[in-house]
Amino acid sequence: MRVLLLGGTGDARKLARQLASHDVYSLAGLGRVPDDLPCEVRVGGFGGSEGLANYLVTESVELLIDATHPYAAQISANARTAGQRCDVPVWALRRAPWQPRPGDDWRAVHGWPAMCDALAAFSRPLFTSGREPLNHLNTIPAHQRWVVRCLDDHPGNAQALVIGARGPFTHESERALFAQHDIDVVVSKNSGGAATEAKLDVARERGLPVVMLARPPVVEADRTFETGDALLAALDAWRAGAPIQHNPTS
Ligand code: NAP
Repeated sequence: MRVLLLGGTGDARKLARQLASHDVYSLAGLGRVPDDLPCEVRVGGFGGSEGLANYLVTESVELLIDATHPYAAQISANARTAGQRCDVPVWALRRAPWQPRPGDDWRAVHGWPAMCDALAAFSRPLFTSGREPLNHLNTIPAHQRWVVRCLDDHPGNAQALVIGARGPFTHESERALFAQHDIDVVVSKNSGGAATEAKLDVARERGLPVVMLARPPVVEADRTFETGDALLAALDAWRAGAPIQHNPTS
């Protein structure tokens, strides 16, 4: 009963800690590669859905678990296609999105151009949405100074400070960051989860808007779980002989 776990998130890393030595944890290779897991770890793309399908067959994978980030739409679609092609069930951990609370001023946008329009009236945006702003450091409007927080360090430029940092982030550290750089708007993905939620609380405290990049459409799976604990319980049951069920959300 060999499991292939597609990861790259904190939730996935927690799941990987519960895998067996013959199971495999797979990473794209963008971040740190853990060296303390009980399972095999592989790094790098498979070569699309076809490459992933080949891997499922050659490595005798019996269950594919997609615990990738909610915005990692390509690998989730590849998992769905490859699972169907090889008749390997796909279970997905789909982290619930954050919901706005009273006092929040969230502005939903789809894509980079719409986000730039939404930011036009502001001068000190804090980007917490990944690497994409690094591709646009040479086209920062003259009235803006950017703070970009992403996983990797980067030299930035005269108009952009890039901070390489990984969550979780505390309320205290977020308050200090917002104050130090006089942030007047936050850019975020709606990642969900507790690790990076503090920035939303601090934005609310300071009365700042959040430009929220819309989630890509959800990719279907044979079973969908909202928590890692629910997925682990189903995994234990499956290993103990329970049949693979289709489509309930746990
Ligand atoms: P993506 O657009 O869905 O994936 C791009 C390509 O990267 C995939 O087609 C696949 O290459 C490879 N890939 C992605 N995840 C992989 C995995 N777990 N194992 C092996 N190959 C993988 O995803 P992305 O947005 O570039 O994100 C890449 C990884 O970073 C994901 O694992 C995701 O969980 C993590 N991450 C993403 C975000 C985000 O905001 N997108 C945030 C935090 C973490 P092939 O087609 O060659 O197989």
